[in-house]
Amino acid sequence: MSRSQDLMKAAERVMPAGVNSPVRAFRGVGGQARFIARGEGARITDADGRTYLDFVASWGPLILGHAPAAVVEAITETARRGTSYGAPTELEVRMAETITAAYPSMEMVRLVSSGTEAAMSAIRVARGATGRDVLVKFDGGYHGHADSLLVKAGSGGATFGIPDSKGVPAALAALTVTLQFNDIAGVQELFRQRGGEIAAVIIEPVAGNMGVVPPAPGFLETLREVTARHGALLIFDEVITGFRIAYGGAQERYGVRPDLTCLGKIIGGGLPVGAYGGRREIMEHVAPLGGVYQAGTLSGNPLAVSAGLATLAALRTSGVYERLERLGAKAELGLVEAARKAGVALTVNRVGSMMTGFFCDGPVTDWPSAARADKQRYATFFHAMLERGVYLAPSQFEAAFVSLAHTDADLDDAARAAAESMAALTK
Ligand SMILES: *Cc1c(COP(=O)(O)O)cnc(C)c1O
Repeated sequence: MSRSQDLMKAAERVMPAGVNSPVRAFRGVGGQARFIARGEGARITDADGRTYLDFVASWGPLILGHAPAAVVEAITETARRGTSYGAPTELEVRMAETITAAYPSMEMVRLVSSGTEAAMSAIRVARGATGRDVLVKFDGGYHGHADSLLVKAGSGGATFGIPDSKGVPAALAALTVTLQFNDIAGVQELFRQRGGEIAAVIIEPVAGNMGVVPPAPGFLETLREVTARHGALLIFDEVITGFRIAYGGAQERYGVRPDLTCLGKIIGGGLPVGAYGGRREIMEHVAPLGGVYQAGTLSGNPLAVSAGLATLAALRTSGVYERLERLGAKAELGLVEAARKAGVALTVNRVGSMMTGFFCDGPVTDWPSAARADKQRYATFFHAMLERGVYLAPSQFEAAFVSLAHTDADLDDAARAAAESMAALTK
């Protein structure tokens, strides 16, 4: 029996499915989850000593790769002075200044400890600031696991949301209206009917949690125009896209300015951080300035903020985003060529260093088209890649992330593994 199997046996006795976040359990692809013992650069090593080229990157945060020296040093140096005080620190000011400089739409920011908290808090502020209750999200969009956000579309067009999880009160889910991503006409129709009730629209400007789905031309612009006209707020959940698809995120890349923005993942450099922020007069609703309560014992934690600051400093090096684009394009080409040669139907969506190969004919533009992907085929491909030392997300509907630690040689290796794995699919 492998060490990972041993550990999973022990883990399953004391944690649901042995994990602290569901997708880690490999239920989406079957088989034995690997326990990871360490990571360095673009590679992770499991408890049995097998090393993998990693494209999960802890689900997005590790844009510099694993254990980059600058981040490890920053954490270590900060830890020597203490790990948390529950009082303000200079580090938090530097982080807030760094974020607001990169995201001009965020005039004020508050740091929290996860992306879930950022999104949950942003919608509370939006409801508090507008005095309205209805929230609009898009089917297939993930904004963490707060009750109001664990809601999916029912059948038909603009529907009252139905809970995506047991334990979410139907009364709360009914306040979340769900539309299809990229459905411009659906957005306009909903606002025509109910614009005065809507507090906010929350969206991943490039969807990353139904697999990667970019916004259609005009979609984000329509959201901006329609929300502004009806006095609703536009919230960009840039927990994945922030500092990834551009230093200034999707709002820089697409030139659309939201009212509120959620950040997470990369800004913590691999430690737990989130942030939300926006226009000054909106953020002035947050306690203790205003009546919207939100707090956190470890918010703005010195270790996490140090790791984040070191990561963001590295991302200000010139040529970084050009390199991510070039590596992303190379990874895409490797996958596309592998599928083409094997005659496997594959649609690859990529924005910069985030991409998904959907096992279906294209295009993939929203959740219904993403959902056509062949999950069984993905699972077979995933295990073929894993056997060849390439670690992909254990689910079809996730992004693969290229990091600055990946080299051209790594991507050549990944392309070779993909070619063999695709060929194995058609045997
Ligand atoms: C990961 C993610 C979240 C949740 O962040 P956690 O830190 O896991 O709570 C929210 N929104 C998006 C877009 C994400 O990808």
